[in-house]
Amino acid sequence: MENEFLKKDGIDYISNFYRFQKYKNKKNLYLITTDDGNFLFLKSNELKQLKKGKLESEGLYDRLHDKGIIITSDNIENIIEKTSLKYSFLNNGTSLHIMILTHRCNMACSYCFASAKNMDENYENADMREETAQKIVEFILKSPSRAATFEFQE
Ligand code: SF4
Repeated sequence: MENEFLKKDGIDYISNFYRFQKYKNKKNLYLITTDDGNFLFLKSNELKQLKKGKLESEGLYDRLHDKGIIITSDNIENIIEKTSLKYSFLNNGTSLHIMILTHRCNMACSYCFASAKNMDENYENADMREETAQKIVEFILKSPSRAATFEFQE
């Protein structure tokens, strides 16, 4: 049904891409979300109508249209603008850089994913070499992002 034109009272529309999930503890209520961050709660029979492309319940068409879950020539510009704004970070380049300077750590956290080694013993290759650190900084400075966040992990 996606991208297939449907008609309601003579108005052409297509269904936007949406996800749905049963709303916990609320019988027959579903949360519908779109990629531009809009959301709406629908009853199960309303979701069925949306899936089938037959919007019969009173006011359902207007609620779906207002939230951009269905697209017409009246709301498409707004949906494009919101989606473009929400994902504008994708054009900015990488800004968060996480570096592991050493594998030495004595914390012994049960959830450790870092293969931590004892602080005091002398392990080969447990610490980042200076040349590697220099290359990392040069690499980060090549990012088109205007800001850089350095996160250091052990
Ligand atoms: S490396 Fe991090 S997670 Fe692992 S033991 Fe040390 S503090 Fe805990």
